[in-house]
Amino acid sequence: MSHLKLIHRRDAIKQGSIATLSLFLPIPYSNKTKHDNMNINTNFEVIIIGGSYAGLSAAMALGRSLRRVLIIDSNLPCNRQTPHSHNFITQDGKTPSEISQNAKSQVLAYRTVEFKQDLVIEGTKNDNLFMVNTKSGKKYTAKKLIFATGIKDIMPNIKGFSDCWGITVVHCPYCHGYEIRNKKTGIIANGERAFHLAPMIKNLTSDVTILTSGKVDFDNDQLAKLKENNVRIIDKEIVEIEHSNGYIKNVIFRDATKENFEATYAAIPFEQHSHIPEALGCNFTEQGYIEVDMMHKTNIEGVFACGDNTSRLRSVSNAVAAGNVTGAVVNMELAKEQF
Ligand SMILES: Cc1cc2nc3c(=O)[nH]c(=O)nc-3n(C[C@H](O)[C@H](O)[C@H](O)COP(=O)(O)OP(=O)(O)OC[C@H]3O[C@@H](n4cnc5c(N)ncnc54)[C@H](O)[C@@H]3O)c2cc1C
Repeated sequence: MSHLKLIHRRDAIKQGSIATLSLFLPIPYSNKTKHDNMNINTNFEVIIIGGSYAGLSAAMALGRSLRRVLIIDSNLPCNRQTPHSHNFITQDGKTPSEISQNAKSQVLAYRTVEFKQDLVIEGTKNDNLFMVNTKSGKKYTAKKLIFATGIKDIMPNIKGFSDCWGITVVHCPYCHGYEIRNKKTGIIANGERAFHLAPMIKNLTSDVTILTSGKVDFDNDQLAKLKENNVRIIDKEIVEIEHSNGYIKNVIFRDATKENFEATYAAIPFEQHSHIPEALGCNFTEQGYIEVDMMHKTNIEGVFACGDNTSRLRSVSNAVAAGNVTGAVVNMELAKEQF
């Protein structure tokens, strides 16, 4: 029997009344039991790994296209520590979880979409079917896989840094710059990245210091430009960010001196949140993003990726836009295959 014809018990419940439910129960219940015994649920057309902004957005386009979708999410979005999210119309100033909870409830209103909180630990492709294994021991299969797994910021070895991340040590002037405007601000970065940030931050506050935490990496033209714009540079190694509940007070240097700051920006490295795209053979860009084309397809047939894991344009709105396109493209592929 085609897996499309199976009716899942949970879907039956979603479909409405007790009377309807009783009509549906016998079929799905036996199917579910069968698959549970095998510990494999083959009942999906698309599995989305990562159920934050990009993943939920892809799921909405797919749910609205009647696709049987499973979202698996380990509930570790990169912005979870930031008190408020900004720069996304309709959602400006909401907490990150308010935005995702609202998105989740809208997406799960589409009866063919399911959500499981779990961690996908393995993904394999056999012929044209993908199988994923989760930490809780579940196995699921689908025809298409979407990675909306985001990235993991790698915290530097500076005491207090991770406690302030997203609160007063921030990554982006568009997300948080307005809230920390006119404050005494540091930029924890060096070279091109620091030089790129400096004009945008200078636009928001007059008191800007670049904290290179080591040998300064600017050419003479850059140094002249920074001086001309009254941007100070401190090259002493940072050992600690002194703070109260994430609100920065002082930056402490290796030589035991300290300087007061009210806010800092930081450019820090990242790694992919999930190793599975690599294990499946996906290509990556030089910067470490999953390589996708305009349609969010990877080089592996049937594997798609969207959101932070594919793009340095890091914002909720961008993740939502990318997920939306990905969901539509995956639906189009499935529709053509079935036509
Ligand atoms: C501190 C901080 C503050 C920010 N503030 C703002 C802001 O104010 N405004 C703004 O527009 N943007 C902001 N951003 C950027 C924004 O948060 C990201 O661009 C956005 O979260 C990307 O969405 P995503 O769905 O691609 O990834 P994420 O939101 O990071 O979600 C990825 C999801 O995938 C899950 N996952 C990963 N691997 C697996 C796996 N193997 N199995 C199951 N689940 C998995 C994770 O648990 C997570 O839930 C901020 C970022 C940071 C770091």
